[in-house]
Amino acid sequence: MVLGRCGGGVLIRRGMATVVAAIALLGVAVEVHAAGYRTANFVVEAPTEALARKIGDAAEQYRHTLAIEWTGSPLPRWSRPCPITAQVAPNLGAGGATSFVFDRGEVFQWTMTIQGSEERILDSVLPHEITHTIFASHFRRPLPRWADEGACTTVEHPVERARQHRLLIEFLTTGRGIAFPEMFAMKEYPADVLPLYSQGYSLARYLIERGGRHTYVAFVADGLATDNWSGSLAKHYGVSDVAQMQHVWLEWVKQGCPAPPASLVAAVPSPPVAATARGQSPDAAVGSAPVATSAARTSIYAQARRGQAAPAVR
Ligand SMILES: [Zn+2]
Repeated sequence: MVLGRCGGGVLIRRGMATVVAAIALLGVAVEVHAAGYRTANFVVEAPTEALARKIGDAAEQYRHTLAIEWTGSPLPRWSRPCPITAQVAPNLGAGGATSFVFDRGEVFQWTMTIQGSEERILDSVLPHEITHTIFASHFRRPLPRWADEGACTTVEHPVERARQHRLLIEFLTTGRGIAFPEMFAMKEYPADVLPLYSQGYSLARYLIERGGRHTYVAFVADGLATDNWSGSLAKHYGVSDVAQMQHVWLEWVKQGCPAPPASLVAAVPSPPVAATARGQSPDAAVGSAPVATSAARTSIYAQARRGQAAPAVR
């Protein structure tokens, strides 16, 4: 199964000649969709009307609550709705792809394709993809891939997060880890993309457990504005630079990703909106979470996008 990229933004540059960055067609098998449903910000196509309605309502709910959790305020209504095409089947691997265009500080031409079981779409794929749209709307420019995918994975169901952690340990012990200076500099997906997802998730989790989501967003904003990620780490997390961040993070992973000291947790402001029951539980729960037993839970967020057009033109 081949899926399109996840969370790719296309940055249009206007030079002497008009340069149009084409959005790659997603390599998702096309299915006949039986029903559509429209909300304020989404137009959903799904196999049945009930599913389309469920997905559309959940998308609006996530868009509202996650925007507040990440940025402190809800998103304004988009000028045009984001089309969501959903393939829903019990044994379909969970995955999604969201693309959009940045142009002169604006973001538009949303498209989102999601697939998986109904349960996994609602508790992992949708919040992940919606978080991409929130970041795109908030930052109005592409994020470093690790920071984007890593943060989006923190809102997935604990089962999916636990899977990323298991993969991380595998990569770190088989020579597939990515040195932080290299990872922080990546603006595109690397050829070996799976480690970027699991490492990005783990670092985002570490940072969010220590500073909360608002601080994470402020850290990314400063890093984007200055292109000085060491400086932003120092400012928001008291870590001297990217190399030191790698050292601190690696030690944390070696110790089994312990929860931060109570003093640090107490300093983290609670999100203004109560966490939803779907995939928003603290990452500390990963590992002890009950694992659902249904088959084909393999997320394919992180499958290599080899052979597909680069998702961003920088
Ligand atoms: Zn993604």
